[in-house]
Amino acid sequence: MAESIDPRECDVHGDVEDMPELSDPDEEEEDDEEQWQWMEEENQPVTCLFCDRLLSSVSATLQHCTAEHQLNLIDLIRKHNLDDYGYIKMINFIRSTNCDASGLMGLPDGSLPWDSEAFLRPVLQDDPLLQTDPEELCGQEGSLHQSSRSESHDALLQRTQAAEERAQRSEEALARAMEDLHKLKLLAQGLVLNAEPGRSGNLSAVAELREDEDEAYFDSYGHYGIHEEMLKDKVRTESYRDFMYRNPEVFRDKVVLDVGCGTGILSMFAAKAGAKKVIAVDQSEIIYQAMDIVRSNQLEDKITLIKGRIEDINLPVEKVDIIISEWMGYFLLFESMLDSVLYARDLYLADGGSVYPDLCNISLAAAGDMQRHQERIAFWDNVYGFNMACMKKAVVPEAVVEVVKAETLISEPTVIQTIDCNRVCLSELEFVSDFCLKIKDTTDCTAIVGYFDIFFDKGCGNKVMFSTGPQVMKTHWKQTVFLLEKPLSVQAGEELQGKITVRKNKKDPRSLLVTFDLRDRKQTYSLQ
Ligand code: SAH
Repeated sequence: MAESIDPRECDVHGDVEDMPELSDPDEEEEDDEEQWQWMEEENQPVTCLFCDRLLSSVSATLQHCTAEHQLNLIDLIRKHNLDDYGYIKMINFIRSTNCDASGLMGLPDGSLPWDSEAFLRPVLQDDPLLQTDPEELCGQEGSLHQSSRSESHDALLQRTQAAEERAQRSEEALARAMEDLHKLKLLAQGLVLNAEPGRSGNLSAVAELREDEDEAYFDSYGHYGIHEEMLKDKVRTESYRDFMYRNPEVFRDKVVLDVGCGTGILSMFAAKAGAKKVIAVDQSEIIYQAMDIVRSNQLEDKITLIKGRIEDINLPVEKVDIIISEWMGYFLLFESMLDSVLYARDLYLADGGSVYPDLCNISLAAAGDMQRHQERIAFWDNVYGFNMACMKKAVVPEAVVEVVKAETLISEPTVIQTIDCNRVCLSELEFVSDFCLKIKDTTDCTAIVGYFDIFFDKGCGNKVMFSTGPQVMKTHWKQTVFLLEKPLSVQAGEELQGKITVRKNKKDPRSLLVTFDLRDRKQTYSLQ
């Protein structure tokens, strides 16, 4: 044992360099303990690999095996170049199979009978042979002593560290693989969801998506904000009110169905206009407010509110005389809520009954607004000195809902489609229409503007209509702008010919895909 001096008991004088090297007494103690441990291990009895003899140490065992069984284990390790695992497997193989020592030296290289991982399992508990490093054995042939034990301890530590590092690397690789798998899953989901339903092998996933989307759609109507915006849109709301209040003969003693009643405003107009009974249906949570609103206005005897999708519920009556609904979306058909009104019409409308509003026009006009074009399209040509023109490919195909200044219109408007809600069928809500825009100015056409007009016409002594066009008071529908990537130069008096295709987006049937063929250019826009 080395002499130890406790620094705490020393008076420190002079330079630190003059000081004798001090060792930490705790470390010393540990070293002693380790040495004792090694010695204990070295003195642990070892059962011979080939007979029942108990030997006093590993080195004694090796000598015994060479002398008594003519098997030099070290030669065997060297011959087969055994690493730690190979050595451990060999020891366990010999112990578990009780094999003959003579057969082992003659084993050919390459195929070893202890290849199986099963031989990693120790046959003897705390087998001192397994706690020995084969490299050490080979390096220390015939001279195993205590110091080699402590080197073997270091080697073991190194091997443990190496194994830990390997485990960590494997864990990292596993984490990366899991991440890749997750990405793959998302990709697969995307493929399924983006597939056209007809071609998809997984219709239930698509149906689920539809349900989720519908949930989001109805959720959006659950918030008061959207209803506030609609109610405050005077052009819209007063048109419905005026139609009903000015045409009481249409409503007197009639049974009315309000498809998508929201706050119940149209139902209350109808009740006030003389309807005998109003059935108000809405799938969104706003209907709970409508229930309170109806009661607050003492109309609960006349108005029956039902929560649910019109397609899912049963009405308390077989037929209704009138269907009222405010179903219009951007560019009229966005939201596809008209589909639900037509469903209700075909199922519940009595012969001779009417759907209001009944007539709708979709119109287009050409616009020349270089400033707006600059802001939205040319902007990308030079962004803080960088060319980001590739962004235009993402910007252009998204139709924009905004208020168009009437003075930027450069053509007469033209109606591209008229819909009669009492007659139209579902398939006609997707259509192709040729159009011609009479250009008024010689300038650049930068966009095509779309909007719609609504008519309460059928059987009305006092017809009511409203427009969502740029020339009249703005509504919450504003206008729908289809920007041209490159402005078209047009001449006053010219007739700009084009073709428009309107269809539902199969990936999201509530949104629309609108394609324009203008001169020799074709561009598809989505409306989301
Ligand atoms: N009629 C109200 C609200 C119009 S907004 C008003 O004029 O202020 C359209 C409403 O229709 C939303 O509240 C929406 O939840 C509801 N709606 C849309 N599709 C529906 C359907 N298939 N079944 C039931 N309600 C529907």
